[in-house]
Amino acid sequence: MFRASHISSVQSSIASAAVAWFSKHGRDLPWRATRDPYRIWVSEIMLQQTQVATVIPYYDRFLERFPDVKSLAEAPEDEVFRYWAGLGYYRRARQLHSAAKTIIERHAGKFPKDIASMLSLPGIGRYTASAILSFAYDLNHGIVEANTQRLYARLLYWKEPLQTTKSQNALWEFAEGLVPDKGKGSGQINQAVMEIGSQICTPNQPQCDRCPLVPFCPTSAKGHFDRVPAPKPPKLITELREAALFIKKEGRWLMRRCQVGERWAGLWDFPRFDITGRESESGLRRFLADAVLDRFQQSIEVEECVHSLKHAVTRYRITLDCYDAKIQKQRKAKTADADHEGDIQWCDLERMEELALSSSGKRVLRWLKKRTQSANE
Ligand code: SF4
Repeated sequence: MFRASHISSVQSSIASAAVAWFSKHGRDLPWRATRDPYRIWVSEIMLQQTQVATVIPYYDRFLERFPDVKSLAEAPEDEVFRYWAGLGYYRRARQLHSAAKTIIERHAGKFPKDIASMLSLPGIGRYTASAILSFAYDLNHGIVEANTQRLYARLLYWKEPLQTTKSQNALWEFAEGLVPDKGKGSGQINQAVMEIGSQICTPNQPQCDRCPLVPFCPTSAKGHFDRVPAPKPPKLITELREAALFIKKEGRWLMRRCQVGERWAGLWDFPRFDITGRESESGLRRFLADAVLDRFQQSIEVEECVHSLKHAVTRYRITLDCYDAKIQKQRKAKTADADHEGDIQWCDLERMEELALSSSGKRVLRWLKKRTQSANE
């Protein structure tokens, strides 16, 4: 069994074997054909929690519209969200946009080359900073992310849960030891171990017969893939119930932009409220009417629940019930919480299509369109 402190003698052999394999078998991905830190950064942020095949068309489209950090920094947030729509996790888009502005303001539009400055940018953690610095500038930073940490754990025969500080320290120490002190070749080494981690050393059935690192791997020799790395503790799921309201006036529906601190901040949605645990329908309607009066200064009568759908966000499983609502007193809708006139719009279906909506908001809109079309037939 290897131990982190004893492994340095084999790390350069592991790195060489990985790079030799990668030069023959590595996939040809668009962000691998560039050393531009901006393009690498965009790909890294998009690839967080999203599969490669899904990312490629979004990446191409995003870079066509925002080809450099300046064009991204100058774009309105709404437009950035529109080009992000479909990738989910909009917080990433907001942070990307905000970091682009910081790079323009504090770094004269140039990507910093030191890890401390990188880490001070919104949305850039140790992995992303190390990936950009090694891929773009060949600086000697190792990387640890989901695929490489599994690979390293198997090479180290590391049986402890990977989330602990002790495990993370050992994995980062191993990763830093794979790249040469002077940096040259670091980008290729990191790309190679990421590729082996994602394509060969998969969670349940690693393909050891194709793996260039088999001579260095105690986990393969013992066949302990189910124990190394230690299985993750199960996620605790919380069930929520929410209500979305179709508040209609003269052929338009009330839409609201989610505020900072809310889920989907910056995106548009139907007025939505948490109704978890509210069982009585009449009490629920009163609650919704009061909530709309508070938030939008509109008197409404909540009618039937006309549609229901389920969706999941992180550890929440949400049942979203959609209610028709009728305006009782016509006033100009206004947000009590944000007091931004621009965060409220009365939209027809066409205008709604143009807004950057949350993914569940898009599903509700699809349903509303069908319903409106069949009512018009
Ligand atoms: S030999 Fe098997 S278990 Fe070991 S690193 Fe390669 S694929 Fe993973």
